[in-house]
Amino acid sequence: MHFEKIGEFGNLEMSYVCDFSGGYISRNRNLFGKLELNRLTQFILEKCTYGTPIFKLGDGGNKILILSGIHGNELSPQIANVKLLNELLDADLKNTLYFIPFASPKSTMYNERTFNDMDLNRSAHIQNSLSNLIVQAVENLAINFVGDFHSTAFNANPGIESVFSSKSPSPESYLIANYISRNVGSEVISFDFAGSSYKGAVEDVCNLKKIPAVTCEVLCPFANVIRGSVETSLAQMKSFLDYFGI
Ligand SMILES: [Zn+2]
Repeated sequence: MHFEKIGEFGNLEMSYVCDFSGGYISRNRNLFGKLELNRLTQFILEKCTYGTPIFKLGDGGNKILILSGIHGNELSPQIANVKLLNELLDADLKNTLYFIPFASPKSTMYNERTFNDMDLNRSAHIQNSLSNLIVQAVENLAINFVGDFHSTAFNANPGIESVFSSKSPSPESYLIANYISRNVGSEVISFDFAGSSYKGAVEDVCNLKKIPAVTCEVLCPFANVIRGSVETSLAQMKSFLDYFGI
């Protein structure tokens, strides 16, 4: 994977995870209206028209991925991820941070959960599915830790602000989840073995590859944004990074 330096934005670098998932994020008015439209944000949205961009900040230390938009209609984490990237742009980082704010720009454009009728959090184990390409990027870049950020509606599953994790074969998943829970208050939902209750979640597929991962959920109606949900998602992301001393 080749990363290009973006001169205009300090040390920011970018590459693409795939080139068949592009979409016009601005068409999702419920999300677009909540973004602070500065140059960097406009740049990110422009890159999303060609596929799934991945951004990189910092060098050395742990390699950590902040992922959102695996479900295109879960808007709060995608907005929070863009905010986080903006906030950390000029930070002096001792670790390597990767950001995928919009895993499936096409799904986000249509405000849809699925990508071409495929649930990306049930297909990460299927060779060359969009979420599998994200897992492949994680492996190729030798990323050490993955945080996948979602939102859940009151009447959906899990329906509570929470952090999913598992104890085996990547026990650090459970430790990270407990850390975020203590800091932010989100409830820990833990399985003894990754992927034992359903297949193909990005978090589980990473944990099964011994890359510790968690899935964070904030409460918010699908396809919309409610007050406080972006802030809570951002707090989960910051707590995830705080676990590594970032
Ligand atoms: Zn989700």
